[in-house]
Amino acid sequence: MSFINPAKVFVQSLPYTKAIQKGIELSILRLDELHPVISGNKWYKLKLYLQDAIDKKKDTIATFGGAYSNHIVAAAEACKQSNLQSIGIIRGEESAQLSHTLQQAKDAGMQLIFVSREAYKNKEALKQLYAKDTIYWVNEGGTGILGAEGAKEIMRLIDEKFTHIICATGTGTMMAGLIKGSLPHQKIMGINALKHATLQDEMEMMLTNEEKRKQYEIINNYHFGGYAKQTKEQYEYMNELWQAYQLPTDIIYTSKMMFATMDLIEKGIFPEGSKIIAIHSGGLQGNLSLPANILQF
Ligand SMILES: *Cc1c(COP(=O)(O)O)cnc(C)c1O
Repeated sequence: MSFINPAKVFVQSLPYTKAIQKGIELSILRLDELHPVISGNKWYKLKLYLQDAIDKKKDTIATFGGAYSNHIVAAAEACKQSNLQSIGIIRGEESAQLSHTLQQAKDAGMQLIFVSREAYKNKEALKQLYAKDTIYWVNEGGTGILGAEGAKEIMRLIDEKFTHIICATGTGTMMAGLIKGSLPHQKIMGINALKHATLQDEMEMMLTNEEKRKQYEIINNYHFGGYAKQTKEQYEYMNELWQAYQLPTDIIYTSKMMFATMDLIEKGIFPEGSKIIAIHSGGLQGNLSLPANILQF
């Protein structure tokens, strides 16, 4: 897959004063640098599905998402680059103006099919309605075993010295992959960014019994109200991160993850000597839906 260049990913050290004072090292894996559109974790979650589709001689990927779904735009671009056609089943009626995300997916050649919120709940019925032999279906958010197995590869980019790996979660697929790839001295911490109530159960469905005995924890109190709820406080925090570290974050996932990481450091939950790496899972295109001039980057 020559359009993806993992060499662009790098580890950025974050000299956060409160971490330094407590003898804690803090870094972030800049997975957002992987590709301008197929950013961050989305590539890792999609890659094995795309390969499976090609192996099974399918010529179209069909998947699901909302109007601001990073998964939808990543799937559209990854399919374009892999010479596959793509269909996006989109939650909610088509609006007069497409969101930036959907416009970008459409520009990459994705056929968008809008379905009511009610119809969207029944994915099996939708699959039957649009069924075709040439279509390979991918779950919303790329969730499932192949998604998690793909995300396991992210751990190859992380030095063994790190003791805590922190990620933002939506479906929990990336987190499941990180757990699969983790070593006994490492703990995976998932920040539940979407107020997803059944996250733990759904995430653990992607783990074997042995993997369920590894070190991991889901943290539920940093969702800032849920998916599309944004506060002035959050914008200010994102601008502070930019000013202090030239670190751009997205409104839905990575800013909440960074806030949680710094807050947990301040609260003293990490022992002295901890080496923490947060994962910048991408999603920056989602900031285009914000009003202009709110963010400084
Ligand atoms: C999709 C996404 C996530 C969540 O990944 P899951 O595997 O669904 O938990 C986290 N961060 C960003 C930027 C994303 O786009």
